[in-house]
Amino acid sequence: MTLKQAIHHARGSLAAKNIEDALLESELLLRHALKISQTQLYIDFDRELSPKQEKTFWNLVKRRLKGEPTAYIIGHREFYGYDFQVNHDVLIPRPESELLVEKAIQIAQNRSGVTIAEIGTGCGAIAISLALNLPKAKIYATDISAPALKVAQANCQKHGVTERVCLLPGDMLDPLPEPVDLIVANLPYVGESELPIQTSSEPRLALDGGPDGLEKIRQLASQLNSKLNPESYLLLEMGQGQEKAVTTTLSSLFPSAKIEVTPDLAGIDRVVSLHLTRLS
Ligand code: GLN
Repeated sequence: MTLKQAIHHARGSLAAKNIEDALLESELLLRHALKISQTQLYIDFDRELSPKQEKTFWNLVKRRLKGEPTAYIIGHREFYGYDFQVNHDVLIPRPESELLVEKAIQIAQNRSGVTIAEIGTGCGAIAISLALNLPKAKIYATDISAPALKVAQANCQKHGVTERVCLLPGDMLDPLPEPVDLIVANLPYVGESELPIQTSSEPRLALDGGPDGLEKIRQLASQLNSKLNPESYLLLEMGQGQEKAVTTTLSSLFPSAKIEVTPDLAGIDRVVSLHLTRLS
């Protein structure tokens, strides 16, 4: 069987299980099995797989068919154009979270000496993408999970930003040593009733937002006062249908702050921004 035929086969099996991006995932799995780059994959398309290579590949495809996400099988995932290591201790970065990065860059790029904190950094994808795009920013990244911070540490090394991203263990804003100009967070926001639907073996700690999904967001909002500078911003990711509850919570705590909601590419209200001015 050639590489091309193997991909064709795997694609069919994944698509039959309603796995989106079946072609892309088949290519990622085959590249992982053979330890080759994308370019090499295309160069070798008509080459025959050895029986051993075929076996290794189908074992990976079988794991995927049983529900294990490709990112965990191959141990990495692309986000904002960069490659990040992932394992079962961290949430797999989602494309919709790139909106948080875009918004944060828009806010921070014209400010000099800006200090940013990412709360609940997981594998570090958001904080590291910010560090790579905002060379002058000082960045803190916190997480309550020590194993998650280990993954973030590895990713900081991989991207050469260990000096730029200060990883801090602890809950929410507690570990921050000073007030900051911008807080970015993709907190757990999945409600209790939807949690059992999440079958992807991702850490519950990174998804569980309590009964209505908003427990962590409310907790963070209530701590903001002490950790935001007078002229500052908060950017939060949220789930489908949560915009009203989130904006109401924020506007009751900060009645004169400017609050905006931005939809993701699928049209779902995904990011809420809060702009605190001196008068808020
Ligand atoms: N967007 C993720 C999901 O739907 C949830 C991430 C989160 O809770 N922050 O699986």
